[in-house]
Amino acid sequence: MANVFLVGAGPGDPGMLTLRAKEIIETCDVMIYDYLANADFLKWCKPDCEILYVGKKGGDHTLPQDKINDLIVEKAKSGQTICRLKGGDPYVFGRGGEEGEELVEAGIDFEVVPGITAGVAAPAYAGIPVTHRDHTTSVCFITGHEDPTKSESGHNWAVYGQSTSTLVFYMGVGNLPMIAENLMKNGRAADTPVALVRWGTRCNQTSMVSTLENVAAEAEARKWKAPSIIIVGGVCALHDKLAWFEKKPLLGKGVVVTRAREQASGLVNTLRGLGACVHEFPTISVEHLDDYNEVETAILQLARYQWVVFTSVNGVKFFWEQLAAIGLDSRIFGGMEIAAIGPATADALRERGIIPDFVPDKYVAEHVVSGLLERGIQGSDVLIPRARVAREVLPEELKKAGCNVTVLPVYETKLVQASGEEIEEAMKSGAIRYVTFTSSSTVENFFELISPETLRCYPDVKIASIGPVTSKTVARFGFTPALEPEEYTIPGLVEALLADNK
Ligand code: SAH
Repeated sequence: MANVFLVGAGPGDPGMLTLRAKEIIETCDVMIYDYLANADFLKWCKPDCEILYVGKKGGDHTLPQDKINDLIVEKAKSGQTICRLKGGDPYVFGRGGEEGEELVEAGIDFEVVPGITAGVAAPAYAGIPVTHRDHTTSVCFITGHEDPTKSESGHNWAVYGQSTSTLVFYMGVGNLPMIAENLMKNGRAADTPVALVRWGTRCNQTSMVSTLENVAAEAEARKWKAPSIIIVGGVCALHDKLAWFEKKPLLGKGVVVTRAREQASGLVNTLRGLGACVHEFPTISVEHLDDYNEVETAILQLARYQWVVFTSVNGVKFFWEQLAAIGLDSRIFGGMEIAAIGPATADALRERGIIPDFVPDKYVAEHVVSGLLERGIQGSDVLIPRARVAREVLPEELKKAGCNVTVLPVYETKLVQASGEEIEEAMKSGAIRYVTFTSSSTVENFFELISPETLRCYPDVKIASIGPVTSKTVARFGFTPALEPEEYTIPGLVEALLADNK
């Protein structure tokens, strides 16, 4: 079996990586990667994976190609599994062919994992099908930046100029005037549509459509930069009609997500799906307690309670984990009444076979109490499995109603020891539009990592808070949330962001 893999990482959208590529990233011993449109994939590497960056950005070569080849061969000979990861497809202007030849010469077996090349993906995300029966019968991938050491150009401009092919240029921004000029000189009409797509498929994608005649001046005026794909041909005229990605309501909007990493994926994926540039900045982490004796005792005496009130998905998750640890399951609840403080917590219960007897209409502690009282909770024995530190409103109010309340910590949230530097840099560059807070502890910990004084330097950054309790904590630090949803849930928060961008 081969131990070297030349792998395509796709054009940048994290979803545009193949399953096979992911598998190799997750299992390789050595990762040798280029300047990628998205380096997020590296987080899938094994903890002990050796990660080597050999990329180049512009003219700045970290390692010349022959040294890269030597490195791959040397690492391969050690018998470890090597992932050689390249942007887009490894064999499309990626010098993967050269690396393959070196491996063959060294007698090393390898496999290729094709990737989605930018020349197809960037146009598709800009609403440009590279072929279309009304416009062209072929497509041609061309380098806009030939090997400068070559004595004669490999470009046959006469052929490009006279063909009706869609022409897709890689690495061409610097040579745009020359490209447009040569195509017109060789027969392409001056009004042929041309599109430029920068950072295709990523949340910061931008595009422009012009004509061969005007594109160089327009790109210059807009200070257009690499990395961009240049598309020439009638298909570019479809951009207006078919542009779907650039219509996303939050496209390019920088949103900071402060939720714990374990909980953030739903929000992160929704925001990404709406086009936002999500900056994951978990300020809290959800952790096991050191000792579960108290939980075990409570579980064994569960029959004492008439009500169990779950206040978070984590409360459910950690409670069931301990149930399983002592060999029990959902049957232990028997005929007991079970409440969930919000829809996500209710879903977590349903997943475990429990249909909650009570879910409030509004998702803050105060409403839970009045709803529970309507259901006749007064005077009952109530168990509340939850975080070690949490608001006391719910237990206090239930006590006032004559309940015998037991608060049972089943997990704790801790401050993540992270640096706020990256987020601060992003704020400085104007890349952040919103900071989202989904609980008071995310607010408190955020301001541990980024001081209120620092945040005050960026008045364009808006705070989006999930609900009134979180907003009150925000106010304690001297800020007023610009956004607070009507429904105090994650979907409600997303709605508020959308409404702010209408
Ligand atoms: N092997 C890569 C291409 C490498 S050459 C592939 O198959 O996509 C590098 C050039 O690819 C850049 O100069 C730019 O023209 C293009 N490119 C790569 N990613 C891009 C992206 N996300 N958006 C626009 N162009 C991109």
